[in-house]
Amino acid sequence: MSKRAIFWFRRDLRLADNPALLAALDEADEVIPLFIMDDEIAERAGEHRRAYLAASLKALNESLDGDLLVISGQVPEVIRDVMKRYKAESVHSAFPYAPYGNQRDSELKKAGIELQQLGSGYAIAPGRVLKDDGTPYRVYTPFYRAWLAHGWRGPVAAPKNPSWVKPLKGDQNIPDWKLPAGVHIQEAGERAALERFKTFLKKTADDYADARNIPGIEGTSRLSPHLRWGEIHPRTLLAALGQSPGHEVYRKEIAWREFYADVLHNNPHTSRDYYDAKFKKMRYDKPGKKFETWCEGKTGYPFVDAAMRQLVKEGWMHNRARMVVASFLVKDLHIEWQHGANFFMRYLIDNDVASNSHGWQWTAGCGTDASPYYRVFNPIEQGRRFDPEGTYIKKFVPELAHLTGDDVHEPWDSADGYSHGYPKRIVDHAAERLESLARLQEIKVAKPPKP
Ligand SMILES: Cc1cc2nc3c(=O)[nH]c(=O)nc-3n(C[C@H](O)[C@H](O)[C@H](O)COP(=O)(O)OP(=O)(O)OC[C@H]3O[C@@H](n4cnc5c(N)ncnc54)[C@H](O)[C@@H]3O)c2cc1C
Repeated sequence: MSKRAIFWFRRDLRLADNPALLAALDEADEVIPLFIMDDEIAERAGEHRRAYLAASLKALNESLDGDLLVISGQVPEVIRDVMKRYKAESVHSAFPYAPYGNQRDSELKKAGIELQQLGSGYAIAPGRVLKDDGTPYRVYTPFYRAWLAHGWRGPVAAPKNPSWVKPLKGDQNIPDWKLPAGVHIQEAGERAALERFKTFLKKTADDYADARNIPGIEGTSRLSPHLRWGEIHPRTLLAALGQSPGHEVYRKEIAWREFYADVLHNNPHTSRDYYDAKFKKMRYDKPGKKFETWCEGKTGYPFVDAAMRQLVKEGWMHNRARMVVASFLVKDLHIEWQHGANFFMRYLIDNDVASNSHGWQWTAGCGTDASPYYRVFNPIEQGRRFDPEGTYIKKFVPELAHLTGDDVHEPWDSADGYSHGYPKRIVDHAAERLESLARLQEIKVAKPPKP
C-alpha cells in the first residue's frame, strides 16, 4: 500500500515556494491536502474576510486538480478522523507564528498528534534575528540591518507531478460565502497574487518610494491579503527585487511585516495589550457615539471618512489612511487603540494580528519605535498633502464630489460644503490635540504601572 501523508494548509494557500508541502510530497507517495474550517475562523471573520477565504480556497482547489479537503470542526478531531479514514501516517504543516496558530498547535500536541513542521510565512522566521547579546530588537532600523545581514533562502518551485488523494464524499465543504451588497474585494488566490506582483513590478515598483503615500492612485502593491493568506511568500517578492530606490523601499516595507511578527513572537501579550505599559494609565473615553461615527465614516473629517468607507467597501485601506484614522481615534477621540484594532480585524481581508496591533500601537505612540505620542496627525493637512486633488476623498465620500479645489479638505469653509448631506465635524481637531497632550502629561508625571 502506498504511503500517505496529510498536508495541512493554514496560512499558506499556495503550491509554489512551499517547502513544507514539498517535504510532505517527498516523504509520502500520496498527499491529502486538507484545510480545516474550525469554528473560530468562521465566527471571528467578518463577511469580507469570509468571502475572501472562500474564494482563496476555491482557487487552491483548482490548483490541486479539485482534490482539496475542506472539513469543519475542531483541529485534533478532524486530523485524527482524516488520518484514520484515509490511512495517513503523518501530518505536515508550516510553523504558524501567531498566537491563534500556536494555540492550535499546542491543542494538537496535547491530543498526542505529532506535526512535522517546516518553514513559515516569513523570509526569516520570527525569533531568529537577534542582537549580539542574544536579545530581540525593539527598534525597526537596527532590526532591518540585522535582517538584511542574516539573509534568507531563495524561493523553491511548485511540486512537479504531485500525487493528491481524491477527497471522499462529503469531505469537500468549500463554503459559498458571499459579499454584502456594494462591497468589492480584490481577487484571491495564488495566480492572482503572482499576476498582481508582476504588474506591480512592471508598472509601479520604480515609483514606489513616492507613489506609496498617495491613496488616490494604485501606488502600492496591494499584496497584503495575498501575504496574509500565504498565497504568495515574501521570499518570492524579495527574490525579484533589485537595488533601485523604489525596490529598496519596498524591501523595507516587507521588513516591517517581519519586524512586527518578530516583536509579537517575543511579546505575545502585545496582540491585545500595550507594548509600552505606561500607556495603560492614560485617561481614555468610552467608545460610545463618537466611536460609531468613526466606524461609519461620518466624523466630518473628509480624509478620515474616505478611509473608513474604503475599509468597509473594499476590506482594505491604504497605509497612509490607516495611520491617519488610527491617530484620529486615539488622539482626537481619546479611545483606546484596541477598539479600533478590533474594528479593523473585522473588516480587513489582510487582517494580521502582528501588523495590525503594532501598526495601531505605533500610531497610538505606545508601540515599538514609537512615533512619539505628542506627534498628532492633522487629518486636514494629511489630506491636503497626500490627496491634493481630493481624488481619494471624492471616490469614497460622494457628498463632497461636487466641491472643487481645496474645499474638499475643509467643507466647513465652503458655501455649499454641506449641501449634499455631508456631516458636520464631531470634534475640533485643534482642541482635541491639546486635550490628548494634556492627558499625556498626566501619565508622564504618574508612576508607570507594574507590568
Ligand atoms: C493601524 C494600522 C493597522 C494595520 N493593519 C495591518 C494588517 O492587519 N495587516 C497587514 O498586512 N498590514 C497592516 N498594516 C500595515 C500596512 O498598512 C499594510 O500592510 C499595507 O497598507 C498593505 O497594502 P499593500 O500590500 O499595498 O502595501 P505595500 O505598500 O505594497 O507594501 C508591501 C507589503 O509590505 C508590508 N507592509 C507595508 N507597510 C507595512 C507596515 N506599516 N507594517 C507592516 N507591514 C507592512 C505588507 O505586507 C505589504 O503587503 C497596518 C498599518 C496600520 C498603520
